[in-house]
Amino acid sequence: MSTNNDLYKREFASFSGKCPYACLHCYTFTPNYQTMGEDNISKIVGRLDGKNPDVIYISGHKENFLNPAQGLELSEKLFDAYHCDILMTTRNVFNKEDVSRLSKFNLRMKNEGKNLFFCVSIPALDSYKKLESNPIIPTPQQRMEFLSEVYANGIDTFLTIKPLCPNEFIPIDEALEIIDRCRDYSTVVLSSGIVVDNHILKRLKGFPIDYKSEQAPLMECLENDISFQYVDVSKELNQIETLCDEYSLPFFQHSMPAIQYVKKLKK
Ligand code: SF4
Repeated sequence: MSTNNDLYKREFASFSGKCPYACLHCYTFTPNYQTMGEDNISKIVGRLDGKNPDVIYISGHKENFLNPAQGLELSEKLFDAYHCDILMTTRNVFNKEDVSRLSKFNLRMKNEGKNLFFCVSIPALDSYKKLESNPIIPTPQQRMEFLSEVYANGIDTFLTIKPLCPNEFIPIDEALEIIDRCRDYSTVVLSSGIVVDNHILKRLKGFPIDYKSEQAPLMECLENDISFQYVDVSKELNQIETLCDEYSLPFFQHSMPAIQYVKKLKK
């Protein structure tokens, strides 16, 4: 599925199959979520044939950098085929060899006039197991160190605090602490609220049942007809925005304006 924003066209590319991270808030675990079988790289690349994207999000059905070398190969092949900006999102961390490959890829993209945007998802600190209970997921500390390593390699980083939860479930101080610790190696901060359905609510033990919400439209990266609700975290978002202002850190609730901001910086 594609979306347009001021004629800057976005496409999604993702491995499919059940995501081994199995985050408790993840929409891909709702019962009627349709996922394709395991995919190979050439099929995923071929799916965007003729779509002429300006940016490809390596994101959607699964953690795409579970095996970082495989995720990087997918990214490189997509760039070979479509020669456009690329946004990667991960909760994983890479070893030295994969960071070096990522860095070379970034340089190659820069030399060819394109941008790489690298999102590291860190939604919580001490409470992270409330969302990410699987022990194979790197700790927030490991992810923060990885973010700094990526930034040190000259890559634009998006510190991604998603999903942002109500303070009653995950204290907002944790998000503020993450920003404080990562402020010197985040190009921008990205954060938006959690979306839930009944299945997700059952998985999130202790989630406040009286949360205020509104119906969410279909998520752009999905073809699935699943009805989610946005949880109102406007108070928490305001606190993040205030801290980012204090640190002169650009803050966004959506990735497309963040991309446009970074692209302008590069001109
Ligand atoms: S890593 Fe991403 S796709 Fe995988 S379970 Fe977590 S939120 Fe879902």
